[in-house]
Amino acid sequence: MKPFAYTRAGNQQAALQAIVQNGAKFLAGGTNLIDLMKDNVEQPARLVDINRLELTQIVEREGGLRLGALAKNSDTANHRLVRERYPLISQAILAGASPQLRNAATNGGNLMQRTRCYYFYDVAMPCNKRQPGSGCGALEGFSRIHAIFGASQQCIATHPSDMCVALAALDAVVRVEGPQGARTIPFADFHRLPGDTPQIDTNLRRDELITAIDVPASAAKFSTNSYYLKVRDRASYAFALVSVAAALDISNGTIREARVALGGVAHKPWRATKAEQILNGQRADEATFRRAAEAAMQGAQRTEHNRFKIELGRRAIVRALTIAANNGRLV
Ligand SMILES: Cc1cc2nc3c(=O)[nH]c(=O)nc-3n(C[C@H](O)[C@H](O)[C@H](O)COP(=O)(O)OP(=O)(O)OC[C@H]3O[C@@H](n4cnc5c(N)ncnc54)[C@H](O)[C@@H]3O)c2cc1C
Ligand code: SF4
Repeated sequence: MKPFAYTRAGNQQAALQAIVQNGAKFLAGGTNLIDLMKDNVEQPARLVDINRLELTQIVEREGGLRLGALAKNSDTANHRLVRERYPLISQAILAGASPQLRNAATNGGNLMQRTRCYYFYDVAMPCNKRQPGSGCGALEGFSRIHAIFGASQQCIATHPSDMCVALAALDAVVRVEGPQGARTIPFADFHRLPGDTPQIDTNLRRDELITAIDVPASAAKFSTNSYYLKVRDRASYAFALVSVAAALDISNGTIREARVALGGVAHKPWRATKAEQILNGQRADEATFRRAAEAAMQGAQRTEHNRFKIELGRRAIVRALTIAANNGRLV
């Protein structure tokens, strides 16, 4: 590991001042960043430890919830109001990592975690995300875990977060603070597609701090009929091959509004808007769910190794919607 300087910020202003230094990075739970430093993938000149900032609270706001950027993933998943109003978020967080990791990992860090592409972690291999212009190991190599939507000739990596898939489905908003003051970023605009600049994962500026994530009051209407389904190689401690955040607002068997977001398929949480259009206003039954799943997978682009994700995705969508329609109970 390369030597680095360390600053423990006592407040937000000090954190924003310290991050201005070239090569400085915020340190939250450290569960991703420290691993990347040990592997020499990340080589920050300075770590700005933000764990003393007062950003750990989960509070009600305008009928919705504000999730502090430094609230631990486990505290968020187990919070009474999150479980009652947004069980999709609880389920998604609890589907990820392990209890020990969730106790250390923070909400802000979860949004900013980097891809799990094998070649990104292996500094002996080319990777445009780690070293722009060096090539893409996955395009020439083994691409079983890689993207089927929104990829580019530069990068076919996927975003690894579970929590972010639920937040995308519920139209959360990311609150950030920077030298120019505070601003908000709609969740759909927070993560980026790779395009020609796969080294840039998000639209957060380098000198900006995530302070909180707002979940809107309106998303609580999905509390009864939602489900997060994660399909992976092992039952725990594994990232999604495909995941589905399904949320339905159902009245008398008819879907008033649907939200479907997919994980493990793109460089960002992928909203299946065509599927949502098919679901809206229709009966909540298997035939509708199958049509929605078909629509969701239209335009998927597979590699030699990840073609299985298309059929897996269809089946996972039908299953997630079926369970969501059944009040979130397994059928
Ligand atoms: C073995 C293993 C298995 C895992 N499995 C899963 C899984 O199945 N599903 C899943 O979703 N996740 C999984 N994770 C990832 C885990 O959820 C993330 O590592 C964690 O959420 C990162 O949070 P952190 O606080 O530790 O971030 P850190 O490691 O401290 O930081 C990560 C990045 O976020 C930046 N950052 C942190 N906080 C802020 C902030 N407030 N503002 C701006 N930038 C910030 C840091 O600068 C850094 O670049 C796994 C991790 C491990 C090690
Ligand atoms: S898919 Fe992206 S992260 Fe993986 S090797 Fe290619 S450029 Fe790097």
